[in-house]
Amino acid sequence: MKLILLRCPNCSEPLNPDNDDVVIACPNCLTPVAIAVNGPQKMTVRFAVPENKAVSSRRWFPFWVFEGRVHILRRETQGGSRSGRKESEKLWGSSRRLYVPAWELVLHNAQEVGSQLIQQQPDIQFVNHPENAQLISATVTPTDARKLLEFVILAVEARRRDWLKDLEFDLEINDPELWGMPEGTF
Ligand SMILES: [Zn+2]
Repeated sequence: MKLILLRCPNCSEPLNPDNDDVVIACPNCLTPVAIAVNGPQKMTVRFAVPENKAVSSRRWFPFWVFEGRVHILRRETQGGSRSGRKESEKLWGSSRRLYVPAWELVLHNAQEVGSQLIQQQPDIQFVNHPENAQLISATVTPTDARKLLEFVILAVEARRRDWLKDLEFDLEINDPELWGMPEGTF
């Protein structure tokens, strides 16, 4: 058995990540650390606060945020409201931020949180890593985030009132950034 002691690259505190953790906060200095194959590495996290929201929690939740376009190739419905197609075209008609929750969540909740932010497109203020801000562990890799994003988009479209039957789309997106957003602001 081989034991490897992981240490924080910033303060050398021993780290104790769970099996699924991709990025964790150092328990001592709170530096976000990526649990990479070749050892722990400092992770760039953008601390983001939706405009007009007050920060009242130390707990910041991780999101993978893509920027780009969703191209709807085919959207078949069974009828219902005609506004569904228009809403869909309007939402995906331009480039936007595509949010994917990166912490451990059941699929339904991840779809809920992601689709709300994607539809709201809140104005964001970036701040320096606030003192005491503790990033909740991220368990979703960027590759999995891309897959999860597809389920979030599907959830947005399936919720329209025209009874979605079939959906086909392409993603034109960049590599995601890891953001932290404070509890209670999304
Ligand atoms: Zn540390």
